[in-house]
Amino acid sequence: MSPKDTTTICDLVNEIALLRKSGKINAQIDDLFSRVERALTYSENRFRSVADSEVDAIISTTSGDKIIFWNHGASKIFGYEEKEVMGKSVTMLMPPSLRKAHKKGLKRFLETGVPKIIGKTVETQAWARGKREFPIELSLATWKSHDEIFFTGIIRDISERKKAQKVLEDLNAQAKRRTDELETLIQMVAHDLKVPVVTIGGLLRLLERKLASQTAQPEVENILQHLRSASKTLENFLADLLDALALEKTQNAWETFALDELLKEVFDNLGEEIHVKGIQIDLGDCTPAKVYGDRNRIRQVLENLITNAVKHMGEPDHPVIQVSVHCDGDYVTTTVKDNGIGIPKEYQERIFDRFFRVPKANGIKGSGLGLSIVKQIVESHGGRVWVQSEEGKGATFFFSLPKTASSLGTH
Ligand code: ADP
Repeated sequence: MSPKDTTTICDLVNEIALLRKSGKINAQIDDLFSRVERALTYSENRFRSVADSEVDAIISTTSGDKIIFWNHGASKIFGYEEKEVMGKSVTMLMPPSLRKAHKKGLKRFLETGVPKIIGKTVETQAWARGKREFPIELSLATWKSHDEIFFTGIIRDISERKKAQKVLEDLNAQAKRRTDELETLIQMVAHDLKVPVVTIGGLLRLLERKLASQTAQPEVENILQHLRSASKTLENFLADLLDALALEKTQNAWETFALDELLKEVFDNLGEEIHVKGIQIDLGDCTPAKVYGDRNRIRQVLENLITNAVKHMGEPDHPVIQVSVHCDGDYVTTTVKDNGIGIPKEYQERIFDRFFRVPKANGIKGSGLGLSIVKQIVESHGGRVWVQSEEGKGATFFFSLPKTASSLGTH
């Protein structure tokens, strides 16, 4: 075989047959030819059977772009039979827009020997019969025989994968548009409600003062009671909503502060409800702990978790809320544990979602935003928040915060 020779085994076998016919070879050489022929055919068949069992296309070319090998996969993907493409230029399988770049790349490789896409898998476009363009994944290898360079490409049709990817991208874009619209709507509602809600509260207090001098009828008192409660619910809901929106817009004010001291402050400021419900507060195992974060926002986390523990206490014989702080490597973990009504297993993953409330809350009021705010704050500090609970046996919330700026991101 000369260096530029691209003769296939099949061509050689045909040549031997012609020699035989012409009677120019003696019996000994003929026998040798027969053995070489059998060995070559065996080797070719073995290679073909492997190549043809591939669903991907396997195509080999010379350095002059001539196709010298074509498997079944290639026929399926490109729609041409082997005999239609053998010896033709491989550029017939490329859209015209890519041919110039291919020629340039090939020339550069042959001159410099430095590969760019050889040995890698790249995504590109191909042309099937009927000039049908489709996306492919191409893995290219090169090999040398008698100083001649050849190329073998394994080609996978990725039309289906690309289609699925596109559907997914469209769905994500659609979901993002909806969320953005919803966010704008929530912002508008929250903003527009602020003034009327504050006005109702103010007018209510004014009305109460005016009526205080008179002996109000029981039904008037009853109506006022309902109004007070409704107005309070609306105020709390709006406050949570505005908090959640503010979180999105403002950055953490980072500082290093003593978490155990903040905890004591929060306990000292706990509202009436603790006493009314006879809840015992146990500042358990609180090691002095410094953390790195936004003090006001961490206060909000503690207040939300403790308020929730109070709200969902139910009526145990000895209501207790236990809070403890533990150092844990680069992080400090705070635990808020109560022995209240607990959270059914099936809802435990969802309680941190915005607006989610456990169904049948027995008239306990809330916005379903408290825990989502907690999660957002803790995660904006690089920490984690999670819950352990058994229905009827209380709930334990954990959250972790970094000790120093350098602990951030080590979780
Ligand atoms: P809400 O304003 O309803 O309290 P949250 O986001 O703070 O909203 O809480 C979501 C839900 O998680 C609550 O409606 C409640 O059902 C449940 N939950 C939160 N904390 C506790 C707790 N300590 N014990 C039992 N259930 C709780």
